[in-house]
Amino acid sequence: MFDLATIEKFREKETPFYHYDLELLRETLAEVKRLEQKYDFEVHYAVKANSNARILKEISRLGFGADCVSGNEIKASLENGFDSHKILFAGVGKSDKEIRYALDTEISAFNCESIQEIQVIEQIAAARNKQAEIAIRINPNVDAKTHKYITTGLDENKFGVNQAELSNVLEVVEQCPNIQLTGLHFHIGSQITDMNVFKGLCIRVNEIQHWFFDRGVQIKHLNLGGGLGIDYANPDVCRIPDFETYFAIFSEFLDIRHDQKIHFELGRSIIAQCGNLISRALYIKNGINTNFVILDAGMTELMRPALYQSYHQIDNLTSCKPDNNYDVVGPICESSDCFGKGVKLPTTERGDLIAIRSAGAYGEVMTSKYNLRDQNPPLYIE
Ligand SMILES: *Cc1c(COP(=O)(O)O)cnc(C)c1O
Repeated sequence: MFDLATIEKFREKETPFYHYDLELLRETLAEVKRLEQKYDFEVHYAVKANSNARILKEISRLGFGADCVSGNEIKASLENGFDSHKILFAGVGKSDKEIRYALDTEISAFNCESIQEIQVIEQIAAARNKQAEIAIRINPNVDAKTHKYITTGLDENKFGVNQAELSNVLEVVEQCPNIQLTGLHFHIGSQITDMNVFKGLCIRVNEIQHWFFDRGVQIKHLNLGGGLGIDYANPDVCRIPDFETYFAIFSEFLDIRHDQKIHFELGRSIIAQCGNLISRALYIKNGINTNFVILDAGMTELMRPALYQSYHQIDNLTSCKPDNNYDVVGPICESSDCFGKGVKLPTTERGDLIAIRSAGAYGEVMTSKYNLRDQNPPLYIE
């Protein structure tokens, strides 16, 4: 929870705003760094989880790489301290302009998601007399057992190249003198909490990389993506995800060759618990079957509940009255603008400070202009 000094700082600010706990971020990064060194892995931060400049600077300072899904994310990474040689460019729909920019800034590699994309990168690279390193994103058909909107590694998903197409990919790559295929990339989903899923991924990856070795293709790096989940139900107890178990699984079950580099792209697990959306209760309204707390924060500030029914713990920071049940909603003109139904909170009054927890990842980055709302600057606490 928050100490009194922090709550005082919240009181002084116009709500809603994002609060970032930089001390927790540093602790989290130190743990990831420790394990990265222990296993000789290479972690790239998935910038799309939170591309706030201050956060990027904290992360780049420790020498992590960046996993970007747009030209502007590459630009933001370069502007905030990431080394271009540790930047990967992923995404199912890279535009020509973005590919040109990535080649010109000499990023490390493209994670390619289709045969046509490889051909376009070849054309653009040839025209600029550049070489492009690529990894193929392969859809391993492993079920991440997470929400269907954040599952990405099944045959029905739009991401990656299916295994049936791999022979065609190799043929195309051979005809591309400006492309070197050096890696394989996998990312099966997000908010994965069942660690067995990662074991299953390792087993599939081992099979797939054998297929390449049998054909004489050297795979210099394996990229296992991100996806490690966090505990949205216990943000005060599970402040740092279990990176130890996560990395140990890959160390144990992945068939790692001599000289092979193992890459990860972690987003949510690094930043989610470090951010909270702080708002005020505007109105309390008695409904027929329920009472509503209407906040000054809505889906325009935090879209996850409206987008994929995600759970966030909600705390009233300023009331210690007996509990009551509420539907906690935002001010936006959409019925999906609801942060939680039947939420138990201390009896809440107009003006109380309400924290929506674990909102550091996929929160501020998804802020929208809908309803032309004010956007207040975040509060960083060291
Ligand atoms: C979103 C994404 C990630 C990060 O996922 P998290 O669940 O936030 O760790 C990693 N790699 C790719 C390709 C992604 O699209």
